[in-house]
Amino acid sequence: MKNNLIKYLCCLNCRGDLRLTNHSNDNETTNGKLNCINCNKTYEILNGVPIFTNFYSDQNYKVKITAKNFAYSWQKFSRTDKSFYKGQFFDWINPINEDFLRGKFVLDAGCGKGHHLMTISPYVKEAIGVDISDSAFIAYENTKHLQNIHIIQADLNCLPLKDEIFDYIYSVGVVHHTEFPKVTTQNLYKKIKKDGVMSIWVYGKENNWWIIYLIDPMRKLITSILPPQIIHILSFFLALFLFPILKLVYSPVNKFKILKPFSKILFYYPYLSYICNFDFIEINNIIFDHLAAPISHYLSKNEVKDLINFNSHKAKIEWHNENSWRILITR
Ligand SMILES: [Zn+2]
Repeated sequence: MKNNLIKYLCCLNCRGDLRLTNHSNDNETTNGKLNCINCNKTYEILNGVPIFTNFYSDQNYKVKITAKNFAYSWQKFSRTDKSFYKGQFFDWINPINEDFLRGKFVLDAGCGKGHHLMTISPYVKEAIGVDISDSAFIAYENTKHLQNIHIIQADLNCLPLKDEIFDYIYSVGVVHHTEFPKVTTQNLYKKIKKDGVMSIWVYGKENNWWIIYLIDPMRKLITSILPPQIIHILSFFLALFLFPILKLVYSPVNKFKILKPFSKILFYYPYLSYICNFDFIEINNIIFDHLAAPISHYLSKNEVKDLINFNSHKAKIEWHNENSWRILITR
């Protein structure tokens, strides 16, 4: 943990300020303790990451499995190649761009392996990445050389961060994996400054009937309760099936004008043409994530509106790839 992170942190118990109890004189604490000045509650810093969740004892079963399976996913699909992720990231948070991020204080809500933090580091003033799962440790290892990036392990619904401090918050592909997406959205909203901005990208319900009626029941009943190693093997074989179709059918239709008319008859074309140039590992990763999460909400436009109805006059909702929603909220 970079020691200057402490000014943004507060106690989960009483919201009081925290202090480092046994830190060395350099800027980084790898193992130590944080202590609440008010109520004396202590929090551990382990392998560079301050831990604000005892979720292995406190959280409910589904949240635990979600965290465990995503930690596995971030570990197995661990590459952070910036050129690959940058375009995808800015597409998810469009119209936010590099210029907007310049000099901003940013929260990555559900940071996974920290790859988006690596993308934004050259632009932002400072950023904090939060993840409930042990992927926080992978994110820390990936970003510890970046002086303006901090990582904490915490639940998005129970953040040890002061209110109204961020210029910008983004949460990409995370809110729909929390138990109550609306509560999560509202809890994140509290952390933005007045006039600050928040981007959220979530799965859509419309156009996803085949996922909701075919994949989802299978995920809930079978795959999400399997050990992640088994889900990995299963997703590998499904990727072996899907990958050649993407390369031999969707990619040429996407590339050559003369083949464009076929796009109308191809199944799930807007999304599959979007991912058809991804490599095998990324396709495998996408399938794994769809099979592994016990909690996945596919939100209709009305549910998305409800998600943000506490702030509807300042929110913009966009239909993305005809299968998901891109939301921009201004406080
Ligand atoms: Zn306290």
